Amino acid sequence: MNVQTATETTSKGATEHFDVLIVGAGISGVGSAWHLTKQSPGTSFVVLETQETFGGTWWTHKYPGIRSDSDLHTFGYSFKPWVGPPIATAAEILSYMGQVIEENGLKPHIRYGHTITSARWSSQENLWTIEATRKDTGETVRFTTGFLWMCQGYYRHSEGYTPEWPGMAKYKGPIIHPQKWPEDLDYKNKNVLVIGSGATAATLLPNIADDCAHVTMLQRSPTYFRAGRNAIEIAETLRQLQVDEHWIHEIVRKKMLFDQATFTRRSFEEPEVVKKELLGAVRAHLGPDYDVDTHFTPKYRPWRQRIAFVPDADLFKSIKSGKASVVTDEIETFTEKGVLLKSGKSLEADIIVTATGFDLCVLGDIEFVIDNKPLDFSETVTYRGMMFTGVPNLVWVFGYFRASWTLRVDLVGDFVCRLLDHMKKTGKRKMAPALRPEDADMQLGSWIDEENFNPGYMLRGMHLLPKRGSKKEWQHTQDYWAEKDEFPAIKLDDKAFVYE
Ligand SMILES: Cc1cc2nc3c(=O)[nH]c(=O)nc-3n(C[C@H](O)[C@H](O)[C@H](O)COP(=O)(O)OP(=O)(O)OC[C@H]3O[C@@H](n4cnc5c(N)ncnc54)[C@H](O)[C@@H]3O)c2cc1C
Repeated sequence: MNVQTATETTSKGATEHFDVLIVGAGISGVGSAWHLTKQSPGTSFVVLETQETFGGTWWTHKYPGIRSDSDLHTFGYSFKPWVGPPIATAAEILSYMGQVIEENGLKPHIRYGHTITSARWSSQENLWTIEATRKDTGETVRFTTGFLWMCQGYYRHSEGYTPEWPGMAKYKGPIIHPQKWPEDLDYKNKNVLVIGSGATAATLLPNIADDCAHVTMLQRSPTYFRAGRNAIEIAETLRQLQVDEHWIHEIVRKKMLFDQATFTRRSFEEPEVVKKELLGAVRAHLGPDYDVDTHFTPKYRPWRQRIAFVPDADLFKSIKSGKASVVTDEIETFTEKGVLLKSGKSLEADIIVTATGFDLCVLGDIEFVIDNKPLDFSETVTYRGMMFTGVPNLVWVFGYFRASWTLRVDLVGDFVCRLLDHMKKTGKRKMAPALRPEDADMQLGSWIDEENFNPGYMLRGMHLLPKRGSKKEWQHTQDYWAEKDEFPAIKLDDKAFVYE
């Protein structure tokens, strides 16, 4: 394998070759690049990223207060200690990722401003040919690679999801999606209406409320929240004892994972008890007179959608102070001055923010072709949520919803390096998953079981995603606690892997 860095110049128009091509420089792409350099040294690779810098989600989102909703001991990489408070701002996450890039010499491997438009596999050459558009010159550049590592995330970065409501054109003020927050948006002393009640709305409210005249969060239906101190006691104690940060990271990760596993298990085994606890905590923050039943009691069981953590109960403090309020109702129509609700009530606002979620994007809006045949991912079956039947030499890092996304970056990273090593040793150049004879009668369903987990953006885009089988090899189980043991034990000579 030839070692080549991504910044080496090549003659104009020439096709460059890399053993591995990583799509995206978000937390998944940077983590995957780290795994490759440490576990498969000597492998040539490039990371192509459409934005002007690394970070992905944490670069795209610039709304006030933007922060993680899971703890950074588990959202951070296994190999790099997190030394700050558990819930981190986008700026802190970007700084952490910058250190990972710097400390591990990853910078020369990343090319920014490269939007990948197509990926074509040739079984004659056992290569992917990738076309990308350079943002600076508009030029189309070509690469070939033996292995595609898809770290492009799961939603479209260029645009968020905003439903079409009647009368939107009538509204005279600005309608802002948080994914496209204008840095100069002046909300001082204004009445702001935030539509939605997910993690984004819950972050925005306390972060703008003090500056606004008033902020209203309008939701169709309530969401579960967990509130707590933005600190981890055991980490504080270990720091007081001057324990090495690597140890602290490892111990706190184990503690967080243990607590999360217990909470997840309980939300399946005793959903009503967990619900009571979650609502009891909200009541404790908002006081006995607040209508928790209407505004904070979801219709679904806990964990069927992501549960946002509210650090230091800031959302509830804003509501209690009177600077923010919650309305649970549905929009009938937009008006010149705000919205008219189905109940007949009107809400006036100077600015409307649509915190209504993402637009699911399957595999980075890239046109995939296999041996001259356009690939429809919805016709494939997923192998453990990371590979697809009939799609050679490709993995997708799709993280967890009930645990930190990045835990899967590490698991998939270990697997890919093991697979690449196996292929090198056995002289194989192609591997595509395929259903085994014993899977022939297996029932196929949609990517995610709606009974298990059903956020809106997944439901809206489910028809675009690969299928799930009834056996766990053919599912993205969303179960980190099982997969942490199952992934290292995957047998590379399993009949599900067809090598050539
Ligand atoms: C506001 C917010 C908060 C979140 N908080 C948490 C949290 O606390 N915990 C958690 O576990 N998860 C959280 N998530 C989910 C989060 O998206 C993931 O955890 C994680 O950041 C995704 O990382 P990624 O690298 O896989 O994808 P992304 O962050 O989406 O990065 C993908 C990168 O690929 C690039 N790309 C895409 N297509 C192409 C293409 N065709 N060509 C070139 N480049 C391309 C994109 O520009 C982007 O930079 C949050 C999401 C949001 C939006």
